[in-house]
Amino acid sequence: DQTPIRRALLSVSDKTGLIDLGKALSARGVELLSTGGSAKTLREAGLTVKDVADITGFPEMMDGRVKTLHPMVHGGLLALRDNADHVKAMDEHGIGPIDLLVVSLYPFEETVAKGADYDTCIENIDIGGPAMIRAAAKNHGDVTVVVDVADYDAVLADMDQNNGATDPAYRRKLAQIAYARTAAYDAAVSTWLAGALELEAPRRRAFAGELKQTLRYGENSHQKAAFYTDGTDRPGVATAQQLQGKELSYNNINDTDAAYELVAEFDPAETAAVAIIKHANPCGVAKGATLTEAYQKAFDCDRTSAFGGIVALNQPLDAETATKIVEIFTEVVIAPGASDEAKAIFAAKKNLRLLLTDGLPDTRAAQTAYKQVGGGVLVQDKDVGYVGLDDLKVVTEKAPTEEQMQDLLFAWKVAKHVKSNAIVYVKGNATVGVGAGQMSRLDSANVAASKAQRMADELGLDESLAKGSAVASDAFFPFADGLLEAAAAGATCVIQPGGSMRDDEVIAAANAQGIAMVFTGMRHFRH
Ligand code: 5GP
Repeated sequence: DQTPIRRALLSVSDKTGLIDLGKALSARGVELLSTGGSAKTLREAGLTVKDVADITGFPEMMDGRVKTLHPMVHGGLLALRDNADHVKAMDEHGIGPIDLLVVSLYPFEETVAKGADYDTCIENIDIGGPAMIRAAAKNHGDVTVVVDVADYDAVLADMDQNNGATDPAYRRKLAQIAYARTAAYDAAVSTWLAGALELEAPRRRAFAGELKQTLRYGENSHQKAAFYTDGTDRPGVATAQQLQGKELSYNNINDTDAAYELVAEFDPAETAAVAIIKHANPCGVAKGATLTEAYQKAFDCDRTSAFGGIVALNQPLDAETATKIVEIFTEVVIAPGASDEAKAIFAAKKNLRLLLTDGLPDTRAAQTAYKQVGGGVLVQDKDVGYVGLDDLKVVTEKAPTEEQMQDLLFAWKVAKHVKSNAIVYVKGNATVGVGAGQMSRLDSANVAASKAQRMADELGLDESLAKGSAVASDAFFPFADGLLEAAAAGATCVIQPGGSMRDDEVIAAANAQGIAMVFTGMRHFRH
């Protein structure tokens, strides 16, 4: 039988729930030990608490840097209860066992996030807390360790089910959480130091994540999966609030992210914009005077693919657009808000997932991107590259008209979010053909052109949607063939990075076709 918890040490920076926990433990006959601020809070609530300083015989000193770092504390956490030598050592030195440890660490991450200065951040590195957490977690055979307010109630419930003790399997689970917490904490310190010292690629690197949700499975049903967040509160798929519909799947999350990051490229103060995504690639993106118009134009790019897609909006969902969206089966809609009327329209579609955020993702904010490869992780800055009108260089005899320029910049923004090789045809602020993920640029141009033709057939038009379009290529045309293919499909202007050995050939081909072409000087590969 397990020994009931008799003595607990509570040392928490975040005092949320502390009094209730203290009361509940007291009521169960548990003796409370505590450090300065925590002890004060508990005492003010009328609880009997012993100061750790009274046990160690040392006052808390050096601005709290040294409070609990003492054998009277660590011996009580680390001693094996069924080891005769350990028990003898406890007896000899008057060390009392500590059966439950509750710690919330100094708020280092929050301090950094607030932009505190170097010294303040340093002072917010908790030393005694992680030491105790690691000690208690190592000794989880005997000790229960809690590092999260969210676990208080569960621990009490577990005690009640086990005559005042805790279940060994549960203690092990808590130990795992405890080590993840100290690892994440040190990862945060290390990452901050890398930034503070401006180490571009630190020799060692630690990663951390907080479980948001376990997923039913990964990309395929035989893959286990979970969703971890980075602990920041940036608007995006990780922090979105789901109003209705089934739980998101792994692929839903991936696609929703792609959709929202793309549509966030368009300033909602300037224009409404809609992106429809399938398999992380856009099958339609459009700007419009209204969301409804933008949605309709995005939908008309590729109606077949849009079925079962993910729709992202850059403005709050309104009733008219909601009515349009529910006309076909859509997996997920994500938007920076929704009107009550729109919510009511969606409510009738039980399976449609609606995700809402406070604002749009910041597409220019520096972030780190990770990719797993055999035996390692590739780390890079997120692609936040941006090309504006002033960055463009006209390289052909013809210069794009103002209207063409608009479409070129629009196509370029979309191409950034299309898997390479990316070719995107745009007309009237809407994509009309998207070629994604082909191994040759020529094939991508072909795919996009044939989609534009197929859609025109579907709509009963007598010329391809690509007729008179602007075309973007995410990287340079290595040969003139891709450009000629685009011209044959009806493109009249081109945006591409330039920089090929055969730029001259490509420019000559554009001139021969009467095409206007601009170079961005920046590439947007996406794999
Ligand atoms: P309190 O508010 O109770 O005075 O302090 C609680 C905080 O002190 C907790 O975040 C805990 O992790 C931290 N802490 C406990 N012991 C030590 C120690 O010896 N050194 C340092 N730096 N922090 C400690």
